[in-house]
Amino acid sequence: MKRLVILGGGYGGVKVLLGLLAAGIPEDIEITLVDKNPYHSLKTEFYTIAAGTAAEKDVRMDFPDDPRVSYEFLEVNHIDTEKQMLTFSRSTKVLSYDYLVIGLGCEDNYHHIEGAPDFTQSVQSFSKARHTGLAVGNLHAYGKVTIVGAGLSGIEVASEIRESRSDLNIRLLDRGSSVLSAFDPRIQAHVSDWFLKNDVEVLHHANVEYVEKDGVCNNGICYVNDVTIWTAGVQPHHLVRALPYEKDRQGKVAVNEFFQVPTQPNVYVIGDCASSIHSPSGQLAGLQGEQVATTLQAVLLGREPKKPKEIKLKGTLGSLGKSDGFGNMMQQPFTGFLPRLAKSGVLWLSKRH
Ligand SMILES: Cc1cc2nc3c(=O)[nH]c(=O)nc-3n(C[C@H](O)[C@H](O)[C@H](O)COP(=O)(O)OP(=O)(O)OC[C@H]3O[C@@H](n4cnc5c(N)ncnc54)[C@H](O)[C@@H]3O)c2cc1C
Repeated sequence: MKRLVILGGGYGGVKVLLGLLAAGIPEDIEITLVDKNPYHSLKTEFYTIAAGTAAEKDVRMDFPDDPRVSYEFLEVNHIDTEKQMLTFSRSTKVLSYDYLVIGLGCEDNYHHIEGAPDFTQSVQSFSKARHTGLAVGNLHAYGKVTIVGAGLSGIEVASEIRESRSDLNIRLLDRGSSVLSAFDPRIQAHVSDWFLKNDVEVLHHANVEYVEKDGVCNNGICYVNDVTIWTAGVQPHHLVRALPYEKDRQGKVAVNEFFQVPTQPNVYVIGDCASSIHSPSGQLAGLQGEQVATTLQAVLLGREPKKPKEIKLKGTLGSLGKSDGFGNMMQQPFTGFLPRLAKSGVLWLSKRH
């Protein structure tokens, strides 16, 4: 028997698993999926957990129950690429692999800003989003919340908290001159307008110098604050950054067209952990996962894998609470209820799938 280990059952890892189960796997291959959580997390919805507008069970799903897969719900603490072995926190278990898929996702990048790791909340893991939800939910009336970073996740977190708590004072710190700098100007204008109408203060050209337990210091001014949420950048999982492989400037592993590590082609890296010309997203991780499943199926059957097709992304959808949103669909910018409805539809479809 040979063992394929899928490390991380997020957007990428689950697609590898589903693809292989659908395509069929040789009888001498054992598949083990490892995740610290005993469920698949819908990370793109974590802003609802941070704002307290969704129940946990709405943003997680059971992994497929299939006799061809075994699960280890453990937290990996070391990947030994020489001995081809994984070790875990709070367990003496050692898991060896012949093939490995790494899809461990990302974590916050604090850019060496003092106090940020200790005094900010996060939405980058289920448990962290849960903590954030608790901190926001427990805030006294008229408490102050600052969200650092006005990219997609910062916008969604700020607007969802506003929808959840109309009493709170919410401030969004944006590094650029407009929120969502990577989006169409019409989307930027719509989102800015939404924040204006919904009483969310947006400060542009932000430069956070340090964060304290009860305040954020930005451009020489320290704002007294109750809860600070960090959405100002991500980096690959720390175990991935520590791997002895070639990486890009962000610490993502350089992979070939099959998502294999060139020096160890039995190791595949996908999603937020893999270097790519595209920005990290759930959509990208899922498409890469599908391609890796096709490649692996060929490899496991001893066949030459076909070169994967160029990845084409379908666009991004974002929410401004439950009834407004924005997004690029068919390369066109859309704002209002339609993209919000489309986002809910995508979520519904992904849950059914
Ligand atoms: C608030 C927010 C909104 C977003 N909105 C969008 C959006 O609208 N569209 C979009 O495409 N993308 C969006 N993203 C980005 C998207 O969520 C990620 O790019 C995507 O989840 C990456 O998929 P992945 O498979 O690489 O990792 P993940 O989906 O993060 O999966 C990683 C898995 O690894 C597991 N894991 C981590 N560490 C360990 C360990 N030590 N041991 C065992 N298991 C471990 C985790 O439990 C998890 O299941 C959003 C992100 C956030 C935070």
